[in-house]
Amino acid sequence: MGRIRVLDKAVSNMIAAGEVVERPASVVKELLENAMDAGAKHIVVEIKAGGISYIRVADDGYGMSREDAETCLVRHATSKIFTAEDLEGIETLGFRGEALASIAAVSRLEIYTRAQGEDLGTHLSADCGEEVELSDAGCPVGTTVIVRDLFCSTPARMKFLKKDFTEAGYIADILNRLALSHPDISFKFINNGKEALFTSGDGDLSACVYAVYGKEMKEAMRPVSFCEDEVAVSGLVASGLMARPNRNMQNFFINGRYVKSAMLAHAVEEAYKNEIMVGKFPACVLSLSVNPKMVDINVHPTKLEVKFADEKQMYHCVYWAVKNALTQETRIPEVQTPPKTSVFPAVVEKPKVAEPIRVEAKPAPKIPEETKPEMKPMKKPSFSMREPTAGVWPIPELIPPELPKTEEKIAEPITNEEAEIILFEEKKETVQPERESEETKDEAPVYQICGQVFDTYIIVEKDGEMLLVDQHAAHERLRYEELLSQYRNRSIVSQTMLIPAVVNLSAQEMATYREYRETLDALGFETEEFGKQSVAIRMTPEELAERDLGELLLEILTMIANSRKNISEDLVSRMLYSIACKGAIKANHRLHEEEMKALLDAVFSLSGINTCPHGRPITISFTKTFIEKQFKRIV
Ligand code: ADP
Ligand code: MG
Repeated sequence: MGRIRVLDKAVSNMIAAGEVVERPASVVKELLENAMDAGAKHIVVEIKAGGISYIRVADDGYGMSREDAETCLVRHATSKIFTAEDLEGIETLGFRGEALASIAAVSRLEIYTRAQGEDLGTHLSADCGEEVELSDAGCPVGTTVIVRDLFCSTPARMKFLKKDFTEAGYIADILNRLALSHPDISFKFINNGKEALFTSGDGDLSACVYAVYGKEMKEAMRPVSFCEDEVAVSGLVASGLMARPNRNMQNFFINGRYVKSAMLAHAVEEAYKNEIMVGKFPACVLSLSVNPKMVDINVHPTKLEVKFADEKQMYHCVYWAVKNALTQETRIPEVQTPPKTSVFPAVVEKPKVAEPIRVEAKPAPKIPEETKPEMKPMKKPSFSMREPTAGVWPIPELIPPELPKTEEKIAEPITNEEAEIILFEEKKETVQPERESEETKDEAPVYQICGQVFDTYIIVEKDGEMLLVDQHAAHERLRYEELLSQYRNRSIVSQTMLIPAVVNLSAQEMATYREYRETLDALGFETEEFGKQSVAIRMTPEELAERDLGELLLEILTMIANSRKNISEDLVSRMLYSIACKGAIKANHRLHEEEMKALLDAVFSLSGINTCPHGRPITISFTKTFIEKQFKRIV
């Protein structure tokens, strides 16, 4: 007897379910897409226990007749396409006819449905792929699908699921995106009995952004409207000032379908170039209308990825749509280009696909004065910093905390004769042992402060050398060392905020927050949930300014999420780097002599350390011989 057998229907459906139904959020996505395809105007989603025990999706779409209800659970049964040619111009969200069959194979499924014009509805139930039972039901026009005990027949899949609130976070994320894709449909999301999202369905995208991301993001949004040939781009893009530490708030919809596309993300980010710091990402809600024949959505079982017939054209349209929207932006701060000798890499680069005639370069608008009140720390920080004078915008840190850059970017602009520059670290290693005799150990280091250049570097004469100390790198390192030792002793010193700072989060970030609030506590924060998708920060580690808190919290949550939620020693270090970086004196801050002295005393007591937590040097030194050679006093 041959060894090959055709699998029975139940097993093959289960295999297919593995592809389509990865987690509760995939079920919700499929059911929502069905409701949207059925022309629903109102959709309610209710879940319990992260969707694992219960999912209900109710719509007021056109419903199913008895005949349709009888076949809807059969694999590859669909009302959306009939021929292979239909595959080339799909206008519905679903078309594979797999979702209901797959869901039915791995859960206890119930459907109530009534088609328009029919008096009686149908009730349908299917337990883990077993025979389907049908009966008459009195129900409104539309469809309600109830999914209970997901993965009851595939316990292996259960093991891969995360905690309930993380799964609920994924579901909220899908709902948020679909609500943004269709402002003309009203979405309601109820999680464990609590309403978590509501959009009215009045067609106002801006109101949807408010419902999903909050007021601040809504107000930062600029309209996008662009049309060329067969491509139309519309939606909203956020001001560069609202850039995020991850791409969670980037939304792309192709003909109403939510898709992930690195190419489209790149086009948007390219349009923001010079307006957003490296390592930060713009938020956007962009809808592309294209001829369905120009895009292939049949490349991925969950239909999240698409292929374009002409990628270049899409890139071009999205780039210019966003660029044009941004040139109308009035709140862009004038970001100063780093001086030639700067240690930072230049970020000015021409867009690749640009035809500059389309955008009129406007003179940079005047910088608004900071209006946000500063947080008043209860305890005075050890280094007080003066705020920049109105109208002077600090040069942003171009090196993102998570992406340590290597030294080559740092050392190069100082001189061609790099060999002559002796790093403080090397020097210390050779000099220190002899100098640190018992008597001299406690003595304050002897040095002379010569001044500050570019409001960023302190010039010091010490031990016959001229030192340049990077004030930000130095302070960041000191803060990091301090925080690390406090963390190890479980005693991070916190300051209470007079007015709590409220930070808006995405659904996924909120889920990470709920799961890892204690990690934040250990880092010196005191936080609590504030509304559906916001967190109020009541206490923070010392020396942080209110304006940095939102960004910092997002950075930390992103790091936790990216590390697959494994709180390793390395992750703790990186989170402490971020706190240190935010709390440290910035470049472009004029310091008083006492501030310089306090900083330098602390720096010179850091034995054997001459880099900031990101690996950039704190101090570079010039020997007298080197300087004399430059002036040709000696050869
Ligand atoms: P697909 O959406 O790819 O066609 P599904 O398995 O998701 O496949 O659904 C099978 C069919 O069941 C659909 O083609 C549609 O005719 C019907 N159907 C499913 N959900 C609904 C709904 N909410 N309202 C009306 N019809 C539905
Ligand atoms: Mg479907």
